[in-house]
Amino acid sequence: MTAPRYPLEGVVSWNMNTTCNYRCSYCTQRFVDDRKQWARDLPRFVAALAALPGDWEVKLSGGEPFRHPDFLGAVEGLVAGGLRVSVVTNLSASDEALAAFAAITAPRPGVLSASLHLEYAEPRAFRDKLAAFRDRHAGSTHATCVATRELLPRLPALKALFAEAGLDLRVQPEKQDREVVAYSPAERTALVALGGHNGTGQVDPDLSGRPCWAGARYLIVDHRGEVYRCYPARRRRQERLGNLLDGALDLRPGPTPCPYAYCNCTVPQQRGMVDIAGAPSASRDR
Ligand code: SF4
Ligand code: SF4
Repeated sequence: MTAPRYPLEGVVSWNMNTTCNYRCSYCTQRFVDDRKQWARDLPRFVAALAALPGDWEVKLSGGEPFRHPDFLGAVEGLVAGGLRVSVVTNLSASDEALAAFAAITAPRPGVLSASLHLEYAEPRAFRDKLAAFRDRHAGSTHATCVATRELLPRLPALKALFAEAGLDLRVQPEKQDREVVAYSPAERTALVALGGHNGTGQVDPDLSGRPCWAGARYLIVDHRGEVYRCYPARRRRQERLGNLLDGALDLRPGPTPCPYAYCNCTVPQQRGMVDIAGAPSASRDR
């Protein structure tokens, strides 16, 4: 299989904190021992991210990144360092904080991905808040929602509600013990009809053996600066590429074959860093 072309813009997913103001029942981080941790020494993080070779987008996530005690300061520093800044948020931040994020990132806007959590947010109010943000954001804006088995039948109507305001609501398969839950064949069909995981058309693709730029042009960085090739690598504590703050990253020189049976990293899939065409489902063997 031929490797995809060099991705001009790399992407770092920076999990900058474990802090969150919600406690969603399906949260994959709900068993994290300390949910009050955040990246300290922001100037060193920002300097290290700005020093990565080539052009990069930094995708901020958590926890809830807007709960980081100096979230907007971090965004300012990253933008000043020439980086595109995106964010994954539960949209509970104030309108003022959201407007500040839009203004700071305007010179090189990224993506705001807003997760709708129905245990905490009312869909219409959430949609309207997101639409108001979208109208002042120069980048792209969309919503996501975890497709629990209970929620799945409601998702087509919810998707239509967001579409009324010109917003895309993308679905994320529910995970338990870090694997996609045992959806029935009919539920899988429904998930694909809703666009698959984050609009990729796939639910839980097995991309093992395919050349992938993760580790070279896609990285996961946690709140302590630990760097891994991608989420499955971090989960297994393998393909660790160093620590961002000690200045000795061992980035891959180019694409290498994926060793994982289940890829839940939609960024490399959507940015053409790995070919997902015709991928089998990872759950076929489970
Ligand atoms: S908002 Fe996100 S990080 Fe916070 S509890 Fe819910 S799923 Fe977890
Ligand atoms: S799991 Fe996904 S992101 Fe990681 S190496 Fe495989 S294809 Fe690439």
